[in-house]
Amino acid sequence: MKLLVILLFSGLITGCRGNSSHSLPPKLLLVSFDGFRADYLQNYEFPHLQNFIKEGVLVEHVKNVFITKTFPNHYSIVTGLYEESHGIVANSMYDVITKKHFSDLDDKDPFWWNEAVPIWVTNQLQENRSSAAAMWPGTDVPIHNTTPSYFMNYSSSVSFEERLNNITTWLINSNPPVTFATLYWEEPDASGHKYGPEDKENMYRVLKEIDDLIGELVHKLKVLGLWENLNVIITSDHGMTQCSKDRLINLDRCIDNSSYALIDLTPVAAVLPKINTTEVYNKLKVCSPHMNVYLKEDIPARFHYQHNNRIQPIILVADEGWTIVLNKSLPKCDHGYDNSLSSMHPFLAAHGPAFHKGYKHNTINSVDIYPMMCHILGLKPRPNNGTFGHTKCLLVDQWCINLPEAVGIVIGALLVLTTLTGLIIIMQNRLSVPRPFSRLQLQEDDDDPLIE
Ligand SMILES: [Zn+2]
Repeated sequence: MKLLVILLFSGLITGCRGNSSHSLPPKLLLVSFDGFRADYLQNYEFPHLQNFIKEGVLVEHVKNVFITKTFPNHYSIVTGLYEESHGIVANSMYDVITKKHFSDLDDKDPFWWNEAVPIWVTNQLQENRSSAAAMWPGTDVPIHNTTPSYFMNYSSSVSFEERLNNITTWLINSNPPVTFATLYWEEPDASGHKYGPEDKENMYRVLKEIDDLIGELVHKLKVLGLWENLNVIITSDHGMTQCSKDRLINLDRCIDNSSYALIDLTPVAAVLPKINTTEVYNKLKVCSPHMNVYLKEDIPARFHYQHNNRIQPIILVADEGWTIVLNKSLPKCDHGYDNSLSSMHPFLAAHGPAFHKGYKHNTINSVDIYPMMCHILGLKPRPNNGTFGHTKCLLVDQWCINLPEAVGIVIGALLVLTTLTGLIIIMQNRLSVPRPFSRLQLQEDDDDPLIE
């Protein structure tokens, strides 16, 4: 009976909370600093970002999706889908059926994006909510005939300050209110390509600028009174790896380039044969020991990169730090490689009423971010490849046990059980131990005379 009363009472409280959150829907700002490799956080100083993390959560490694390129990974974050499922399988694509081309400079045709529904569209289908974007791949395209209510056409020449001003204005002044917003910045990706992640001097300067931008972001949110109630996720699409002129794979040395069309070049080349596929495959297969060559049907299942018409019949995957080139090409410090390489992983930090304070977590998958964002916004997630359970430890309204805690609990329980069992055995032994001289106790017939 007592339990029933408690349950009813807690139900009432939850119900009340539900109502109040209904009148004030939670808000989320998703920020991406392109190409922010996870270990930059350990190898460089970020005073502003570290303050942000101190008051929020940090996921040290986010395992992203293959291929580890910009457009595909940004779309996975906002859909929770692997590339074969959301259809943005590279920064450069070709569709054999429609004969359409896609590139990062020619990305406005909804055809490419409509295989999935990004979170800003789902958010906007809710009553009395709108979405806003200060850039993010796909946000200036009418996906399923819907753009965010407020968005900017992509232009790399727009300053961070202007993007930040727009997004905060929209977060404050819009009706219906903006509850989901994105903010995108091209660095440190551009400098990572240019200098390579091992160029300490240049990367120190670039990463200090990024940290200052994070300082500006937090300052502005505080000044505008958004800081305490807004959930902010800062993350990225991929890492970066060092290149070298000694690590080139020259396709022209192995095969006549008139026998195939190259849809994407490096570090994952997408090859569309013009002649017999097996013939092209056999020549490429022996081209370099630093490159894996796969027929589409043999692409390893762990890449989740096979079931889509936009994935070409042959793909070449360079080893870390190797660049696939044609004659006269130069090496390129790059990303795009195998997504099991830690150099390809970004990080995630988050702050706000939905998140714990001062909590560090080892790893999640980038596709797990989508169900977590849906949970925060109270949206029903569309079918996706993420696992909400992986992010529970980051959230204040979820109960979770992390691995060290679980091990501690199991060891503790075993200790208690062992002690109890020991005690029981000792007690039992005590009860059954024969008293000294008990064998000498008189038996019933002991008082019989020894001699009759
Ligand atoms: Zn990128």
